[in-house]
Amino acid sequence: ATMVSKRVKRTRRWKKSVKILQELEEGCATPVEKLRQVVDAMAVEMHAGLASEGGSKLKMLLTFVHKLPNGSDEGTYYALDLGGSKLRVVRVNLDGQRSSSLEHDVERKPIPQHIMTGTSEELFNFIASALKEFAERVGDGPHKFSGSTRVLGFTFSYPVKQTSISSGILIKWTKGFAIKDMVGKNVSDCLQEAMSKIDLDMRVAVLINDTVGTLALSNYHDEDTVAAVIFATGTNACYFERSDAIIKYQGFLSTSGGMVVNMEWGNFWSSHLPRTPYDIELDANSPNPTDQGFEKMISGMYLGEIVRRVLFRMSEELGVFGVTASKLSVPFVLRTYVVTIMHEDESPDLQEVGKMMKDVLEIPKTTIELRKLIVKVCDVVTRRAARLAAAGIVGILKKIGRDGSGGTVAAGKSKIEDEKKMRRTVIAVDGSVYTTYSMFREYLNGAISDILGEEVASHVVLKVVEDGSGIGAALLAASHDPFKS
Ligand code: BGC
Ligand code: MG
Repeated sequence: ATMVSKRVKRTRRWKKSVKILQELEEGCATPVEKLRQVVDAMAVEMHAGLASEGGSKLKMLLTFVHKLPNGSDEGTYYALDLGGSKLRVVRVNLDGQRSSSLEHDVERKPIPQHIMTGTSEELFNFIASALKEFAERVGDGPHKFSGSTRVLGFTFSYPVKQTSISSGILIKWTKGFAIKDMVGKNVSDCLQEAMSKIDLDMRVAVLINDTVGTLALSNYHDEDTVAAVIFATGTNACYFERSDAIIKYQGFLSTSGGMVVNMEWGNFWSSHLPRTPYDIELDANSPNPTDQGFEKMISGMYLGEIVRRVLFRMSEELGVFGVTASKLSVPFVLRTYVVTIMHEDESPDLQEVGKMMKDVLEIPKTTIELRKLIVKVCDVVTRRAARLAAAGIVGILKKIGRDGSGGTVAAGKSKIEDEKKMRRTVIAVDGSVYTTYSMFREYLNGAISDILGEEVASHVVLKVVEDGSGIGAALLAASHDPFKS
């Protein structure tokens, strides 16, 4: 009798966990009509953010990048790229030709946790000394510098209110960084100071966002590039905007054609976004509640955490994972790369899923049914992320009139002629969530076709541009070299 009741209980638990999955699916649903609402909301918020300072949750930050490098610069340039989890140091040799492969050295350093939450002085000492070590190791390369001061591009992937192309003030931290004394400080001054303390003779020529570096590198190789998007620890986009559309900066721009705008789309918000109780709890327990709402549904820092919250609920309410001592209760223990591995497990009995549950979450035994359920949870969370990301991209296309709807079409013109109106449009994409997670990539590209239709979507090219945030910064430093006239 006890055996039977056990089995009955197990069946009931199972049904309940399937119900949790169904609720999740409903909460995360992204039918194409909903995506179109998100597209419209994105375009509307872009307008609002460009109209006035504080006009939208989308900051639409000025970058002072009016022109993207065309490849005519020569010399050796350095770049620093401070991302969400890594610091990259880069040196690029430019030969004045728009060469298909740029000769460069890169070094990647993981950023220790204590640095992310310590003081600004510790952070910049860490950065400056990494740069010094690198410069000493690689030497100055075959090209002579102008004077003896080396010229540097600094990619700082957090929202910055630029005061010029080479300086700006940190508005707030995002992702895992929380260095309180840094907010409101001039980022380039902090670096410049740390470098001079250790006699490192370098000058910050440009201070940019990672999206802007990615746009610069992609445009260097392919001039049809109009925007760049990052799906990494955080997410963001930038694009080239006409000067007359940047209302909040009118007057100053009259002589130039336009400017790259750093959208900071991670902070986008719209009531059309499909939000679940898991998102609400995640946000409430994050170091930056009510900030970065879009990012918290999309980027690498959070996808694993959303999945963990769903699995934790199944475990708490239903005990489907059997053990009580699992690590499922530990925030951020389930990283997005683990989600990738589980989601893409092609073995018939989902061995990788079992292995991840054991190694990462300390859940020793999982049935095949449970593993399937876990994969399904990963699928639902990632599919929503990728489809919302696609809606964001189409929002940009709509804003710049590249969504295939633009232009008044004279009556009687053939369909072929209409199609010609849509120009080849390249969006540069980088970040491990896009480059290493094929399901995310597939869902994203599929959703772009769903929203735009196959015909229009065939003119939109999403191009992976790796390491653009660093190399692009070096390119921009070269084209803004203060020692060259
Ligand atoms: C930051 C952006 C950055 C993005 C991708 C976000 O959290 O606010 O500035 O571009 O992450 O790294
Ligand atoms: Mg990065």
